[in-house]
Amino acid sequence: MQRDLFDEEHLLFRETVREFMAREVVPHHGQWEKDGIVPREVWKKAGEIGMFGFSVPEEYGGAGITDFRYNTVIVEEVIATGSSGLGFSLHNDVMAPYLVDLTDDGQKQRWLPGFASGELITAIAMTEPGAGSDLQGVRTTAVREGDHYVLNGQKTFITNGINADLVVVVAKTDPDAGARGITLLVVERGMEGFTRGRNLDKIGMKAQDTAELFFDDVRVPVANRLGPEDGQGFFQLMNNLPQERLSIAVGAVAAAETVLSETIEYCRTRQAFGRNIGSFQNTRFVLAELVTETEIARHYVDTCVRALNAGTLTAVDAAKAKWWTTELQNKVIDRCLQLHGGYGYMMEYPVAKAWIDSRVQTIYGGTTEIMKEIIGRSFGF
Ligand SMILES: Cc1cc2nc3c(=O)[nH]c(=O)nc-3n(C[C@H](O)[C@H](O)[C@H](O)COP(=O)(O)OP(=O)(O)OC[C@H]3O[C@@H](n4cnc5c(N)ncnc54)[C@H](O)[C@@H]3O)c2cc1C
Repeated sequence: MQRDLFDEEHLLFRETVREFMAREVVPHHGQWEKDGIVPREVWKKAGEIGMFGFSVPEEYGGAGITDFRYNTVIVEEVIATGSSGLGFSLHNDVMAPYLVDLTDDGQKQRWLPGFASGELITAIAMTEPGAGSDLQGVRTTAVREGDHYVLNGQKTFITNGINADLVVVVAKTDPDAGARGITLLVVERGMEGFTRGRNLDKIGMKAQDTAELFFDDVRVPVANRLGPEDGQGFFQLMNNLPQERLSIAVGAVAAAETVLSETIEYCRTRQAFGRNIGSFQNTRFVLAELVTETEIARHYVDTCVRALNAGTLTAVDAAKAKWWTTELQNKVIDRCLQLHGGYGYMMEYPVAKAWIDSRVQTIYGGTTEIMKEIIGRSFGF
């Protein structure tokens, strides 16, 4: 079925991104996987061709365009090359709403030009060793002392955790106030008492720096609080999580499509019993099911992108997109690996890396179970 999400300018932008990925990322990604991190220079190069901060107003160095289709193009092109180390979607899709919509003029001036140029890399630190799905259970505290907060606590699993210059930290300013006691503070590289722990050893996404962060009496100026008052953090998170989840869903469908097309090609040429394996009815039926489901997913996700642009994407819609497409991604890639036989288990075949990289998709950004809870709550039982 014809895809009609994009206009001419998105297709032109896609060419630019594709060319950038082929030149600046693909030849180096294998080395970055060994290093466990992507060099900061590639962020700056991506910034130079306008890959960051579409929604950042022009006066602060962005494009001043609020159109998630550009974000979609980047996610799809990054995924199509298996470049799972780039934390660009976290920066663009997750962080932009916090830094563009929740900042005052002074904060915009301090942070947005670097955000758009790729010189300031961003992260969001919600998860703690004792609190992931249950965000209200965070134990990091921020105690007001004059024009500062004194921040204490520990975070883990933080994407871009090593490279990040700005970290939005979820902290309790009133531990007894439940959801109303959470505030978002921007911690900057170099603040005294802010240290990074291990770059965590994950099963996949090897070039992505995912780290532990520690806050030991960090004095964060009140001028680094997002929003005009304490206690808004939980609601700010709930407002922005649908966009994060849609970004993950866009990536899920792109990964499934990429692996499917590689697998169809493989089945065309691989021989068994004197025939192409694509000539077996089982192969054709498996592929027929997978391409059907992936195409249906594509159209639901495209509809969600339009809804986000129109300001009508609900938390429930985004939860549906997130859980269903990421579970589908895992199924598609697993079945495609099976169709590769033993070669599917070898890292030289892209399906092997895609299989490992995809596993986390049903976990971060809210697990499948939490997505179903969000949908289930909407029934009002
Ligand atoms: C590679 C990677 C990158 C990440 N990046 C970030 C990041 O940048 N920033 C950040 O803050 N976090 C990040 N995370 C953390 C991620 O969001 C959490 O791991 C996730 O939300 C799950 O939390 P948890 O690990 O504490 O699992 P838990 O909350 O302990 O869940 C364990 C299991 O219990 C289930 N469960 C929990 N509650 C319920 C319930 N009410 N009903 C049914 N089942 C339930 C879960 O679905 C899961 O299966 C990242 C994680 C990974 C692995």
